Amino acid sequence: MNQQNMKDWLILANERIQEQKDYLSELDRAIGDGDHGVNMARGFQEVSNKLATQEFTDIGAMLQQVAMTLIGKVGGASGPLYGTAFLKASAALKGKGECTNIDLANALNEALKGIKLRGKAEIGEKTMVDVWEPVVSKWLDNPEAGMDELIEFTHECMVETKAMEAKKGRAAYLGKRSIGTFDPGAVSSELLFSSLFTVLKGAAS
Ligand code: ADP
Ligand code: MG
Repeated sequence: MNQQNMKDWLILANERIQEQKDYLSELDRAIGDGDHGVNMARGFQEVSNKLATQEFTDIGAMLQQVAMTLIGKVGGASGPLYGTAFLKASAALKGKGECTNIDLANALNEALKGIKLRGKAEIGEKTMVDVWEPVVSKWLDNPEAGMDELIEFTHECMVETKAMEAKKGRAAYLGKRSIGTFDPGAVSSELLFSSLFTVLKGAAS
């Protein structure tokens, strides 16, 4: 993946987030405060604008800018979590003009560790970790996995959050009443990963 592919990923992710903005907020209205779509749309639009107008020395520097933008613009619980994720990924890819899929999977594993350290969520607690952890592990265990298979698996992980009871974040206040809705952060994470796998499908690694 080169710098252009990385830009394509984040620009596609932004397009999908804009399309799903109302849906993300609707999910968050059911089990939170209803701002997840607005938060993500605001942050990723700014990311997309910055990527369109700025040049970067390497992909690590690009992801660092993404992280700072998300930290500054998204807000809520998810802003610092996504910001931390991109900051960890940027550190892992520091100085690289391009990277292999394995480098990227490793960088996303560092990002996942950052999310878990910051949010203290474990698998099964109905958060974005329920997409991040299984998807990154599957990719790391099987770097040759097909992109369509990864896209499908990511979707299945998101769907599984519906039956979960929230143990972290605002939705946890609802206890068992949080069961029956997809977790909004798991849905936005699916959008990020499915955009990535879509771009990688078309890119030489
Ligand atoms: P807020 O809950 O502050 O309104 P958002 O609505 O933007 O923030 O984001 C909510 C999402 O953030 C949840 O759906 C969940 O996926 C994620 N989230 C919340 N708390 C945590 C946590 N401690 N660890 C991981 N993810 C979390
Ligand atoms: Mg919210």
